Amino acid sequence: MRDHADVVIVGGGMVGLALACALRHTGLRIVIVERGEPPVRLSLGRDCRVSAIVMGNVRILEGLGVWKHLKDDAGPMRSMKIWDNQEQGGIRFDASEIEEDALGYLIENSCTQRAMHKTLLDSDDVEFYSPAEITAIDWQPGDWSQEDCSKNPARVRLADGRVITTPLIVGADGGRSWVREQANIGVWQRDYAQKGVVVNVRAEHPHRGIAFQRFLPTGPLAVLPLSDNVCSIVWSAENAEADRLLAMSDEEFLDALNLTFGPVLGRITEAGDRAAFPLKGQLAKHMVRERVALVGDAAHCIHPLAGLGVNLGLRDAMVLAQEIADAKRFEEDWGELAVLDRYMKQRMPDVLSVMGSMEGLHRVFTTNIPGLKEARGLGMRMVGNAGAIKHLLMRNSTGLSLPVPKQIRT
Ligand SMILES: Cc1cc2nc3c(=O)[nH]c(=O)nc-3n(C[C@H](O)[C@H](O)[C@H](O)COP(=O)(O)OP(=O)(O)OC[C@H]3O[C@@H](n4cnc5c(N)ncnc54)[C@H](O)[C@@H]3O)c2cc1C
Repeated sequence: MRDHADVVIVGGGMVGLALACALRHTGLRIVIVERGEPPVRLSLGRDCRVSAIVMGNVRILEGLGVWKHLKDDAGPMRSMKIWDNQEQGGIRFDASEIEEDALGYLIENSCTQRAMHKTLLDSDDVEFYSPAEITAIDWQPGDWSQEDCSKNPARVRLADGRVITTPLIVGADGGRSWVREQANIGVWQRDYAQKGVVVNVRAEHPHRGIAFQRFLPTGPLAVLPLSDNVCSIVWSAENAEADRLLAMSDEEFLDALNLTFGPVLGRITEAGDRAAFPLKGQLAKHMVRERVALVGDAAHCIHPLAGLGVNLGLRDAMVLAQEIADAKRFEEDWGELAVLDRYMKQRMPDVLSVMGSMEGLHRVFTTNIPGLKEARGLGMRMVGNAGAIKHLLMRNSTGLSLPVPKQIRT
């Protein structure tokens, strides 16, 4: 069986689907190959994997037509309070300071994916092959018939025997990307030796749309506002401690959580099932090579302490989609390195700056060096009091000031 696609996206997670949504009206034929998403793990009846989508990216989802399927499931994050173990300093960010209703929204990952699938229903140009797996990529299949604008398309072979030719393969297949490996692209890696313990909880008092982030010497504890007054917890802890948190009875866990978080929301009274995810920092040494582009976690994984991983990935998807659409308009081959380089060059400053800040924050908040601890408290107070700097920081971290297309021009 022989087939042709203008773009083959490997991985139908949030980032791969976002790319397909962005390309769905460009007239290109898109194939998504998804090997079968992992089953959703429920906690208090909700997906325990939750992402904070910052306001700049909410605008992207609006532009893509995804938001209308998602907004009823999204919990607004109207402000964020950050403080550390020393109780010194502490800082609060309010959406009203940047003239917005919310800094972002908390959404279950499975809801985002469902909304993206719904969005794709309005296009006949996107096909979803799942469960399906690519078993081989032939980068230069020689005199394979010319069905597209590229002179030398790649050829992918699926486990069911299907063969697809394509000028561009996009690796959207997560942190352990198979596509990245096949393209011989190495990674820089940083193992935090931590896991993120995730669980949904209910507390005595309503969260009022406030996200709480408490930095502990062992890692951050985030309490994030979901809809219906449920909070999503991401508790980053060293591996042994995370395993201990997972092994506790519900009662022991609630005691440990209340003791660590404090009475900010009254007592946390109910906790659902817990799950844990290993935390690592990772950056692909190249985001592209001829006929391949990496997006999302396949290109970069970051510590979830500021909840920006999928936010970076959505911006990758938008910039790559625009480069592909532009290349089509100007009759260029969008799998060529010169085109893909334009994508990489636009994305690197954002990726490096977010990765650098996450690493810096992680170090500053896990340090035990006495002088640095005091400087940290002072720094937080200074940012909290310096209106212009705080405003700039907020617009940058919510993605509102980044030059990323909100809709694809065709
Ligand atoms: C505890 C925790 C909390 C987080 N919180 C936030 C947050 O608040 N905000 C935020 O922005 N980010 C957050 N993140 C990060 C975010 O979850 C990831 O950045 C995001 O899920 C990456 O999406 P992706 O589509 O790139 O990859 P993935 O979600 O990993 O999706 C990859 C897809 O590819 C498929 N696949 C893999 N290999 C193959 C193959 N060989 N063939 C076919 N298909 C394949 C998989 O089945 C999967 O569906 C958090 C991460 C963790 C661990």
